[in-house]
Amino acid sequence: MKLVFATHNRNKLVEIQQMINSHIELVGLTEINHTDEIEETGSTLSENALIKARAIYNLYNFNTFADDTGLEIDALNGAPGVYSARFAGKENNAHNNMKKVLNLMEGCTERKARFKTVIALIINGNEYLFEGAVVGEIIEQPIGEGGFGYDPIFKPDGYNQTFAQMDPEIKNKISHRGMAFVKLVNFINLNSD
Ligand code: IMP
Repeated sequence: MKLVFATHNRNKLVEIQQMINSHIELVGLTEINHTDEIEETGSTLSENALIKARAIYNLYNFNTFADDTGLEIDALNGAPGVYSARFAGKENNAHNNMKKVLNLMEGCTERKARFKTVIALIINGNEYLFEGAVVGEIIEQPIGEGGFGYDPIFKPDGYNQTFAQMDPEIKNKISHRGMAFVKLVNFINLNSD
């Protein structure tokens, strides 16, 4: 079975390919020559994941999945949430996004937050959603050089390091995206003979 991951991110693609049954041909948007940006106009992560998956399914009739991730901070009433990529402006600038979060939270003692990933899968017109989340706290200053996005300011509960300090293998095991992908892969592996 051919399955399209509605992403241009090569790293994400390779990671999932390694987890999935080898009789599934997993390809990204580049491989199917889809270059247009799919606008994420939804107000929830699920809506955005569905928008991306439906766009590709409706255009090409390929079985497809898409993911969307957000950081939800309790003290900011769930922001940046669905707007995580562009919190500080139009372009996705991790430094400015973190700076905006830290400024908004200055002096704030309630620092609980969670990363959430939703994956929307469409197989033969049927839609399925898979979710992963990791709870932690927003620390006061960025620490660590690894990872990406908000990793330097997010410390998952039960760990003494931020995501940016962690061995990527450990991060991937406990992360929002890791959990959502394990659910997706188990489902696909069980339903794809
Ligand atoms: P996307 O849906 O994977 O594009 O993620 C949306 C935004 O959330 C990204 O631009 C990042 O800023 C942030 N983000 C997603 N996943 C992570 C992560 O694992 N660590 C830190 N930031 C992340």
